[in-house]
Amino acid sequence: MSESAARPVRAEIGVIGGSGLYALLDDVTEVVVDTPYGAPSDAVFVGEVAGRSVAFLPRHGRGHGLPPHRINYRANLWALHSLGVRQVLGPCAVGGLREEYGPGTLVVPDQFVDRTDGRQQTYYNGLPLPGGGRPEVVHVSMADPYCPDGRRVALGAARDCAWEPVDGGTLVVIGGPRFSTRAESRWFAANGWSVVGMTGHPEAVLARELGLCYTSLALVTDLDAGVESGEGVTHAEVLEVFGRNVDRLRTVLFKALESLPATRDCLCSHALDGLETGLPGV
Ligand SMILES: [Zn+2]
Repeated sequence: MSESAARPVRAEIGVIGGSGLYALLDDVTEVVVDTPYGAPSDAVFVGEVAGRSVAFLPRHGRGHGLPPHRINYRANLWALHSLGVRQVLGPCAVGGLREEYGPGTLVVPDQFVDRTDGRQQTYYNGLPLPGGGRPEVVHVSMADPYCPDGRRVALGAARDCAWEPVDGGTLVVIGGPRFSTRAESRWFAANGWSVVGMTGHPEAVLARELGLCYTSLALVTDLDAGVESGEGVTHAEVLEVFGRNVDRLRTVLFKALESLPATRDCLCSHALDGLETGLPGV
């Protein structure tokens, strides 16, 4: 591993996820990126997977010291964008809201519901940036929050690994760090929503605001409080199931990285067409 090289390091695809993902790469360049929004969760680790340049960003920092509500999501997405990333894969751990979505289920959601509070979720607040530039007030479409091409690739990659994924569904994102009460969990399920997590939002929104593709891969680590009959979700349980599935999740991700289209013509790539953003480089 080397510190920031003399030649600017670039990457085409970004992965925001756990540290188990970049640990296996042979030749990783560690890049410290400064952003107008402060520091990202950690340095960005740039390496190559199947001929594609990939930037890994440990969402919670490499020591896992950042809880979901303290992650600087704006800095994270900005850092990836500034390295040239245009497609982002966002694996995350979630609780299942239906009995059939037990631990080990992989869901590739097509919708989310935001139940977080107080997270900075826009670049377009009209306030001047410290390094220059003043974002316009821009309203992006969020009707279809995830990249259709990215979702297709992720579903195909899982099937190639003999891991039949759930195609579509709604990811509820709560603020955390506590888990849901049984009443909250039953309410989410009664609305027809599929899984619940703490990190899926505002990553997808911020990606769209920068014209990036974003695809969520949600690994179910437990049944949420409303569907299970025991003591409720514990952190130890979540870590144990995640640990058991991290190898195959990495295999799916690497396969997806290989298969993402090299050029984009999806709705995300056109999200900012004709708009004046006022953001430097966007
Ligand atoms: Zn896209």
